[in-house]
This record gives sequence, structure tokens and C-alpha cells, in this order.
Amino acid sequence: MLHKVDIKTGSRVELQEITSQVRDVVKAGGVRNGICHIFVPHTTAGVIINEHADPAVVEDIIAQLDVMVPQHRNYSHMEGNSPAHIKASLTGGSCTLFIEDGRLVLGTWQGVFFAEFDGPRDRNFLVKIVPDR
Ligand code: ZN
Repeated sequence: MLHKVDIKTGSRVELQEITSQVRDVVKAGGVRNGICHIFVPHTTAGVIINEHADPAVVEDIIAQLDVMVPQHRNYSHMEGNSPAHIKASLTGGSCTLFIEDGRLVLGTWQGVFFAEFDGPRDRNFLVKIVPDR
């Protein structure tokens, strides 16, 4: 089963937590044990798993990505959004989580974040749940 979840991002760069939406998909899927794949079908957005307890962590990640990938540089890509493409490549566009006893397995401090690098836009991510045999 493949689920598409629509989201809206609110700024050029943001890490929007999507843990609850992923949990909802897992719950609706009714799978007790298995694998949950998350895939972002965009070239200027990605997905990461990191701390959701202290919002300063997400701010630091965004700030450091800006240091590593300057907004203005001699980029070749004429659309002008090369930094977004590069940041999306660094974060990656997919992740895999475990489902145990019907619940998403995450560490206490972990959350799943949609990583927007060229917003604000209407976006989506895909979730595929694969039950254990
Ligand atoms: Zn582009």
C-alpha cells in the first residue's frame, strides 16, 4: 500500500515535522510488524530523522546547511535554485523506519522532518508499509 500525504511548507527553508502524519498512516495501515518507507518525490526537498524535543537543533541544522551551501555562488543551474538541489542531496530523499506492535519505532528524542529547501510550496511525501512475512 502506497500512501501520498500532502503538506504545505511555509518558508524557503524549513524542517517541518511529519512524525504525526507518518504515525497516522501506520495506524491506518493496521500492520503490526514491518517496515515503513518514506520517500520524498521532489528534487529540492528531502527527509531527515533528528531531534524534535529542542527546536534549536532544527534551527542549527538549517543554519549549518546554509554555511555549507551558500545561497549565492557561481552555480551553473540556470533556474537559480542550486543550493536547494544540493541541500536535498545532502539530506537524502528517503528513510526507512521499523513498525513494531503497530507502532513506529523512534528514539525518545527523534522525529521525522520534511526538509524544504525551495519553498514555500505545496509538497507531498509517499509512505509505503511492508508487513513482515
Ligand atoms: Zn532547479
